[in-house]
Amino acid sequence: MADAFDARIVRRVKPAEEAKLVALTFDDGPWPGSTPAVLDILAHEGVKATFFWVGQHLERYPDLARRVVAEGHAVGNHTYSHRSAASPAEVAAEEIGRTNALIEELTGVRTTLFRPPGGHLKNGLVKHALEQGYVVVMWSALSDDTKPGADAASIVHNVMGRVRPGSIVLLHDGGGDRARTLEALPLLIERLRAEGYRFVTVPELLESGEVDTNPWAARP
Ligand SMILES: [Zn+2]
Repeated sequence: MADAFDARIVRRVKPAEEAKLVALTFDDGPWPGSTPAVLDILAHEGVKATFFWVGQHLERYPDLARRVVAEGHAVGNHTYSHRSAASPAEVAAEEIGRTNALIEELTGVRTTLFRPPGGHLKNGLVKHALEQGYVVVMWSALSDDTKPGADAASIVHNVMGRVRPGSIVLLHDGGGDRARTLEALPLLIERLRAEGYRFVTVPELLESGEVDTNPWAARP
């Protein structure tokens, strides 16, 4: 049983024939200071990404959420209050259920993607999400774009050092000043393209192959 549940926690997919696919993901929006600029960059570059939303932010910025969906990006659930504390079943149900209801009400999308704030797997949120049939989307290529001292060069360097075919890249469009992420994003897209990567959404990535059960294995 544990194996079946573990298989729904996704950090990387093994694309058929090791196709160089990569999924950019953005957490903690929608956020007025940076989501529009992220969308402008993605549109200019012709890249589709996946956004994991905080319910409280959705309530405040519904038009931004509608723009994300209208421009063809995929979306997922990142709890209502960006909760990372221990969450009894009823709290987890409220955090996740309320956010999914908001996403559907505002955008018409019924998402089955969930990402736990802080990547916490054992505080009750992921347990509830798995029981409800969500795909728990983690990451295999950390940008560390929210770390103190991060700059555009270090964000690009971190991702390029960690990316492999089928990687999920963690970035942030919300929750604070994202100027460094905005500066890094065009450079990152350019570098990934130069290495032959194609950009897909998380649902597209999931369809491209099998879940990698050992995403930390050495790069080929
Ligand atoms: Zn977050």
